[in-house]
Amino acid sequence: MKIAVCSSEVVPFAKTGGLADVSGALPLALKKLGHEVIIIMPKYKQVLDAGFRLRKISPDVLVNDEIGVPVYFIEHEQFFNRPGLYGEKTGDYPDNLDRFSHYSRRALELLKEIDFKADIIHCHDWQSALVIIYLKNLYNKDPFYAGIKTLFTIHNIGYQGLFSKEEFPKLGLDWGLFNMEALEFYDKINLLKGGIVFSDAINTVSVKYSKEIQTKEFGFGLEGVLHKRKDTLFGIINGLDYSIWNPATDKYIFKRYSLKKLSDKYKNKEALQKLCGLPKKNVPLFGMVSRLAAQKGLDIFALAIEQFCKLELQLVILGTGDLKYHVILEDIAKRYPKVVSLHLKFDDPLAHKIYAGCDIFLMPSHYEPCGLGQMISMSYGTIPLVYKTGGLADTVNEKNGFVFSKYTKDDFLKTVKKAISTYKNKKAWQKLMISGMQTNFSWEESAQKYVKLYKKLVFKA
Ligand code: ADP
Repeated sequence: MKIAVCSSEVVPFAKTGGLADVSGALPLALKKLGHEVIIIMPKYKQVLDAGFRLRKISPDVLVNDEIGVPVYFIEHEQFFNRPGLYGEKTGDYPDNLDRFSHYSRRALELLKEIDFKADIIHCHDWQSALVIIYLKNLYNKDPFYAGIKTLFTIHNIGYQGLFSKEEFPKLGLDWGLFNMEALEFYDKINLLKGGIVFSDAINTVSVKYSKEIQTKEFGFGLEGVLHKRKDTLFGIINGLDYSIWNPATDKYIFKRYSLKKLSDKYKNKEALQKLCGLPKKNVPLFGMVSRLAAQKGLDIFALAIEQFCKLELQLVILGTGDLKYHVILEDIAKRYPKVVSLHLKFDDPLAHKIYAGCDIFLMPSHYEPCGLGQMISMSYGTIPLVYKTGGLADTVNEKNGFVFSKYTKDDFLKTVKKAISTYKNKKAWQKLMISGMQTNFSWEESAQKYVKLYKKLVFKA
């Protein structure tokens, strides 16, 4: 099959979170299964800063051939040559609708320009939802686009791409589409909703989350729309790219290790303690690599943090996000300098060092579509501690981690204490580490599930 993947962030070119990991790894896994895949993304400043070689193929399109599948970049100096992908510290860019509608139209036109007659266009999250909306409402009259099927993957329903109604004319769509059955949502434009309504099928990144988003608690107002499409709504768990997240080959960590020489993991712990200015101590070292948002459990973590820091442990945090949590964490790091090491930034090499050097990985997310942090940490023999939700519930259990099932500070702390006491039992701890490291979240199986779904749409098989 011919598959065009449209995503607003793709590893190794530009990343703010798990969407980029998925959009970078899935196309390669699909290619391995014998399919012809291309990726289309915006040409951000990050891409050039990272030093990738791009070849110009038309006035506003460049291509890179270094990762195994062609990656096409839509260039627009004014829209994409900026420090952030979607915004900066002060908030989202005010012209995001112009930016991503431009990207989406150009992505569709590009297919015709390079004569890539896709069987499937696979779009991800609100940023590329307009590819589907335009295809079904504007481009469908052109025979080149006839018959192209679309899959829309929702990575996080909490981010919907909401814009004011006044901006609607910019989209170049018929006003008739601004209604409850299409793009309108409480008098605003909702791009995610448009993607849901106009795609041939929808999926989320874990089975549990595909069910959760049909409920009022996790549907963020779209549960009704999703429920209507329940026969074409699927859950496919993300894989992990072991060419990037593997302690035996990782180029960023202090000392490589594997199941054969687990003791070398502790060299990473010592080096991380040193790097972070934490005393060399045999207490469990907790790590967190996360967007600092309530969704990621920062709300209950903030309530628990004072008691948490008084326990026998150390903590390294790497993240950026809501200012409110920056302030709380800065205060706690100042007051507990020998316990907490705080890094308020996005730093991929440091993330690798944390996954490798810590004993326990904290991921108390309130909801989690799939979550990659828990899978990455397991691959590094770092035991995840998670709330029982979405993809976390699908991947972590008492054999490979610690799970709490009431979303409260008390249940969280109780589970932290349980982890600390288990840590003292070397044999039990090793068993957990081994079980995690042996778990295989490879992309192969998930890519096969995607292919099956594509085939269902293309061949009605
Ligand atoms: P999200 O909801 O943010 O996409 P995921 O768990 O699916 O959460 O994926 C997060 C990805 O982003 C992981 O690869 C994680 O290591 C990475 N990440 C998150 N925050 C940071 C940071 N501050 N620095 C480096 N990497 C980060």
